[in-house]
This record gives sequence, C-alpha cells and structure tokens, in this order.
Amino acid sequence: MELAAKDRLYVWHPFTPQKDMIAPVPIVKGKDTLLIDESGNTYIDAISSWWVTLHGHGNEYIAKKIYTQALKLEQVIFAGFTHEPAVELAEKLIRILPAGFAKVFYSDNGSTSTEVALKMALQYWWNTKTEGKAVDTENSPPDGVTRSHNKRNKILAFRNSYHGDTFGAMSVSDRSVFTLAFHDLLFEVTFIDTPSKENLRQSLDLINRQGNEIAAFIYEPLVQGAGGMKMYDAGLMNELLATVKRYDIICIADEVMTGFGRTGKLFASEFLAHKPDIICLSKGLTGGTMALGVTASTDSIYQAYVNDDKLKTFFHGHSFTANPLACTAAIASLELFEQYSVQDKIAWLAKENEQFGKRLQSNYGSICRNIRVLGTILAFDLAIGRNEYLNNIAGVVTDMAMKAGVYIRPLGNVVYIMPPYCITAYELEKVYNTIEAIISSISTNA
Ligand SMILES: *Cc1c(COP(=O)(O)O)cnc(C)c1O
Repeated sequence: MELAAKDRLYVWHPFTPQKDMIAPVPIVKGKDTLLIDESGNTYIDAISSWWVTLHGHGNEYIAKKIYTQALKLEQVIFAGFTHEPAVELAEKLIRILPAGFAKVFYSDNGSTSTEVALKMALQYWWNTKTEGKAVDTENSPPDGVTRSHNKRNKILAFRNSYHGDTFGAMSVSDRSVFTLAFHDLLFEVTFIDTPSKENLRQSLDLINRQGNEIAAFIYEPLVQGAGGMKMYDAGLMNELLATVKRYDIICIADEVMTGFGRTGKLFASEFLAHKPDIICLSKGLTGGTMALGVTASTDSIYQAYVNDDKLKTFFHGHSFTANPLACTAAIASLELFEQYSVQDKIAWLAKENEQFGKRLQSNYGSICRNIRVLGTILAFDLAIGRNEYLNNIAGVVTDMAMKAGVYIRPLGNVVYIMPPYCITAYELEKVYNTIEAIISSISTNA
C-alpha cells in the first residue's frame, strides 16, 4: 500500500483537522536545506521543519556522533547514574548561556522545559517559605496574610504567548483556539501585553500592585513565535524587567525558539540588560536532530533545593532524562558552531533578510504589513482575508510555495521564514522570489 494511504489508516497528525485531511507528503530524505519527497520533488525547508533544524538535514557530523554514541551507551537511568554526554553538554551550555547560570536540568522537549521551569520557580517559593531571603524582604506580607501553601503562586505571562502544549505550559500561554477545550482546567495567570510605549505604564502599575504575590514571569524574549512571529522592543522590555526584578520575581526566558542564533545573537536574552533566572531551551538545541529539553537555573534558585529536608527535593524527571544520544547530538551541534563559520552565516542571513524586507516594503507594501526582521527571522502580515488561524490563506500560500519547490507554513496570515543556517545564496534568493511571486499572484487575484 502507498505510504500516504497507510498513514491515513494508522496515524494521527498534530495540529491537523482530521476530517477531509489533505494527505500528508511522504518525505523520504533530507539533505542540507532540502526535503525530498517520494516522487523526487525537492523543497527548500525555509522554516527549518518547525524551527528546529540549524545545520541542515542529514548532517554527517552530527549523524556520525550519534551513531558512535549509540554503540557505546544509548540510554541509562539518570537518577543515581551519570554519563559523559550529559556532563559535557551541561558544561558547554553553562559556558555559553547569558551570564549567571549554574545548573542544567534535562527533559525531553520545549513543553517539558517550560513545565519544569514553572515547577522549579513555584517550588522555589514553597521551599523558601520558612527561611531565606524570600521571607525576610521588607515587601513580605504581614503574618496571617501569607497564602496557604506557597508564599507566592501567581505567574505573570504575556498575552499572545506560546509556551507549549502540556497543561502548565498551556496555562501560561495565551488562551486561543488551541486551548479552548481546556479553559476550565487551566490555572489562573496574570497576563500583560508585550511592552509598547502606550501600555508600559499600565503594566508597571500592575506589577507594582501584585509584585509581592508573583512567583515568576515567563516570556519569549523579543519574538513571540507561535503567536505570529510578533516582535517587540528590547528597550521597553528592559524597563519592564527592571520592575519585575525589583520584586524578586523569578524571570523565566523561554528561548525554545529564539535560542542558538535565530535572532542574530546566540540567545535573544543577550539583547536585554536584565538576565533571566531560568532559561528554557529545546528545538535548535540538538541542531534539530533529536528531542531534548533543557531548563537551566541560577545558583540562587538551585540553592533553595539544597536542603536537609527531603520534601524540598525537586521531584520531577522523565524516563529519557538526559538521553545520551540526544546530549551527544547537542554537543555535536555546538561543535559545528565552531567548525564552519555559523556566526558569519547568521550575520549574512540577517543582512539579506533586512534587504528583502525593504524590497517587499517598496514592491508590496500595501499587502505586506508590519514587515519585521530579527536576525534570521523575517515575517510579515498578509493584508487579505480574515485575521485568524483557521483562515485558509495559510494553506493556499503553502501549496503555491511547494509547487515552486519551497516549504513555508504561514501562521494564519503571518508569512515568515526561518531557514537553516546552511542555506546557500542561491536557495535564499529562490525563497525570496517565490514569496514575491506568491504575493504578486494573490494580490492580482484578491
Ligand atoms: C515550540 C515552542 C515550545 C514548545 O516546544 P515543543 O518541543 O513543541 O513542546 C515552547 N516555547 C516556545 C517559545 C516554542 O516556540
């Protein structure tokens, strides 16, 4: 039986309405930026297969390292045991992360990395409720006003955010069509808008009112990915973070998407003066080859767990915590950053994107709105149709692009690219030209 037909029989795909499902395209091979289907058609993977692929598909260096490690040690329980890939990766990450991180906690994907971050932050306040800095601050509520279990249990998050699909991650993500069926069960979160000149005062006032009750603030630094590649100002974010920090609120940077060079710097938090206390990584962590999540914490968070009281242990883990193959892939990906001049490629991509943004603005400014670029990410809003996810303009654009040999997957009416760093000048120009041709055709048929 044909693969697509067999798929239809046995497989359930993510984010995909199942009724009248368009048959998925069987991909038989990936090489560098190219995806190759069973009929031999090739597609430039201009969105890095959901923002994960850094050095291209089928990367030989990473593949060989995984193979060698698989023969040596493919998996071992990570409580009571350790292994070289986990330790080496943790050491490497601590060296390159924005200043101040001390410990690396492993999990399996982006959602678990944010889930771990939230639990780590909330339990920090639980662990310190009878001792330590938290109780001593002048701002602590008077006796008898303290909350029942946790000194602080409110989470602050941005509207329009996306932090994953598990329950905690859904709770701190914006309420949307994706979470609709679960709204009754999601925990309460204080949402504010990403900072703008107009709303900053209001957000600061809210933090000044609630600051002593807020345990943690989770944010996607500078770019909200799934929320539509929305970008916001670093200067205003610094002002917001300055106030957040004044209340000792634990800052959780969700760099699952922005990490490893996407924004032009290795981590988006490098654009900001105020560093996070916890950082979440996944997607590009292994170069996009294997599932792995990291939640790194500062020493001051970690110290709240170093305790005679065993109840203050961080009781969290996964069967595949720190899988040696995934850790090995991540080390290999980081080594590649040194071996071919990835940083130069990233800088080049950023410059090309800037120029293409200008080209789009002058040729199609009326239909391409809010053209925005941050490093290797370029996005704009198509000013046609209704502005919602289920609007089919996304499908139309994807179809047209694939016919031209380019894979893009708009988020509703938001068209964006985020290519692997190995993309060639020729391929990048083909992506740009394809996008222009699609816009041209849509605007004449609109
Ligand atoms: C993709 C994403 C997640 C979730 O990661 P998964 O690996 O898909 O679970 C969390 N946060 C951000 C910012 C993301 O882009």
